[in-house]
Amino acid sequence: MNRFGVKIAPNVRSVLAAAYSTRSKNILRQRYQHRNKDGTFKEFNESITVVPKEFEQQDEYKNEKRVGQIYQDRYKKQQQAKQYLFTLKLSKEEIAESVEQKDVCEHRTQEDGTIQLEKSPYRKKQHQCIFCKYNVPLDYKNVQLLSQFVSPHTGLLYGQEVTGLCYFKYKELENTLFKARKLGLMPFFYKETVFVNDPNLFDPFKNNLKQIPDDYDKRKLNADPKINE
Ligand SMILES: [Zn+2]
Repeated sequence: MNRFGVKIAPNVRSVLAAAYSTRSKNILRQRYQHRNKDGTFKEFNESITVVPKEFEQQDEYKNEKRVGQIYQDRYKKQQQAKQYLFTLKLSKEEIAESVEQKDVCEHRTQEDGTIQLEKSPYRKKQHQCIFCKYNVPLDYKNVQLLSQFVSPHTGLLYGQEVTGLCYFKYKELENTLFKARKLGLMPFFYKETVFVNDPNLFDPFKNNLKQIPDDYDKRKLNADPKINE
């Protein structure tokens, strides 16, 4: 009882400590359940089968022991097979036999004597952004690289269509830029004057994500209305 006549709750810290100790004990028990005191692992089922000596002469127990032995042998055999598979090494001749020998020419020749191309030479190349193409890692400490994507007039990051980056890399760039600014490595509203004369990676007045031809508007205006009908 307190001097105010109020019953004090038991010390929370001691209760927590007790709970923690039981919890940690349980964890340790689980961890070392299948180990001996040396740290070596116990044999299969050794921890479970505790049989008194009276039952050792009984037929049931003998049968059980025999079956258990069979299971143990099977388990060991499986492990040996697994080890053999992992350490399997083929000789060079066997490898050469297993690998199919391809023809030197990539393209197939038909019976007429014509050649059938497997890939069309007119196919469009897939767009790749700068980071994906050259495998450039993005880092918040690389301020010079980050400032190349920032406008020298406003200090803001150029849009995705101007930079020509893919969605994932643009998001990553945004995050790294934010981190660099938060840590005080980069300014918010202007480009660092040291990096102003750096070479441009892209034209800021052009759509670099999906390239539109220059005479797009003219073609649209001068198109024959009859064709569309
Ligand atoms: Zn990309």
